[in-house]
Amino acid sequence: MRTADRLSVAPKLFPGPSDRIPPLPPILDPAIARLITEHPGKLHALVEMYGSPLHLVWPERVTDNAAAMRGTLERHGVRHRIFYGAKANKSQALVAGAVAAGCGVDVSSLPEFEDAVRAGAGPERICATGPAKTRAFLGVLIAAGALIAIDSLEELADIEAIAGEARDIRILLRYQPRSAARSRFGMGTPQLMAAIECVATAGSLFRFEGFHVHLGGYDPETRVRAFRELLPLIEFARLRGLQPETIDMGGGLPVRYVESEAYEAALTAQKPHHYHNNRSPAGLYPYGGTQSAADWIEAFLSGHVIVGRTVADVLNAQGLTLALEPGRSLVDQAAISLFRVTRVKLLGDGDRVVFVEGASFSACETWFSSEFLIDPILVRQNPETSGGPMGAPVRAFIAGHSCLEEDVLTHRLIDFAAEPQPGDLLISANTAGYQMDLLENQFHRHPLPRRIAVTTAPDGSFQFATDL
Ligand SMILES: *Cc1c(COP(=O)(O)O)cnc(C)c1O
Repeated sequence: MRTADRLSVAPKLFPGPSDRIPPLPPILDPAIARLITEHPGKLHALVEMYGSPLHLVWPERVTDNAAAMRGTLERHGVRHRIFYGAKANKSQALVAGAVAAGCGVDVSSLPEFEDAVRAGAGPERICATGPAKTRAFLGVLIAAGALIAIDSLEELADIEAIAGEARDIRILLRYQPRSAARSRFGMGTPQLMAAIECVATAGSLFRFEGFHVHLGGYDPETRVRAFRELLPLIEFARLRGLQPETIDMGGGLPVRYVESEAYEAALTAQKPHHYHNNRSPAGLYPYGGTQSAADWIEAFLSGHVIVGRTVADVLNAQGLTLALEPGRSLVDQAAISLFRVTRVKLLGDGDRVVFVEGASFSACETWFSSEFLIDPILVRQNPETSGGPMGAPVRAFIAGHSCLEEDVLTHRLIDFAAEPQPGDLLISANTAGYQMDLLENQFHRHPLPRRIAVTTAPDGSFQFATDL
């Protein structure tokens, strides 16, 4: 008998079907699914070698994702440019994957800019966004000839102040749509008109290329409305002698992590006691939406600007290039994160907790009062011998190895067919977009988790190389 079982705590009985926590199996790219099911020993060996947690990144997926987006853009005959919103992930291999796939890179810091240059993006393929670019960063962008999305009149004045001998500084002006009137990003119509005046009277200092918009949320209809609001400003710029060429609609294209039917069912059935903290999460990413990124582009392009005229019609009639800056959606399916199980503990309240080697900083939704609502995949170290006492199913939540009560990867209780054993791996799928490394740090002096880039050779075998 195990020590824990000698104590008087009665583990909560595994509930019957009436109180099932609805499963949310991840949508998995076929190559990733094949690695997990056919080569579990390799995954264990990689964690043995590089430590836990370990992120496997798949630059090839970026190529697929860009191709799917372009398919829709091309079907509408729209001139387009895709910039990878590089803040979604710190992996150098994914930036390189985006550049190799013909995308540009949307950068918001000097290190991101340097990543893009290292990945081979020339200045024509770099667009800098963000509200608080330093003068030093602006200086580098100007010297390189990169495109700069200007967030404010104040930023425009800073550029004028540091421009020196520079000419033809390539800029977009960032518009603040009415739906985001309380946002601190971009310029409302009066400020934007003043910025246009400024640029129009600055002679050859600026090369004005167009407008930029980026909205929170994932609804393409809000982008259609923002585009409609931009039309008079495009006209105004032309009246002032400028030639807008590019309308950059930013990111926010959705990712589907789980099937939408399963997701709807799970949301309907969820109860506070399905979470160890006894609280349904405050806000959730739409993990099981019905739209792919390509569907989102389709909805945007076929949205009506005025009766009988779609966004695509207007772009094409005016010879405008549509730029997009997908972050999360360009790295859809481009990483999985492996956590090694340390032990399973029975708590006084009867819940079980699976401790993993790693922290919730490497799986960070709980820090935003949210949850990554996707079931982890259990990969056994010893498939023959493991299975826990009598192989009985267990319900458990997952916590990290730190001494913070908040260090929980998922409060949501997971129904395991049998108890996870020390040395088993729990895999979080599809972690590339803001999930795996946004908050990573060296808490407790643990080293930063490693990234390994995976590529598929023509014969279908997998190759692994350390990523920066
Ligand atoms: C964050 C950001 C993006 C990327 O957003 P996603 O939701 O990851 O697609 C694109 N453009 C700008 C300006 C951003 O701030």
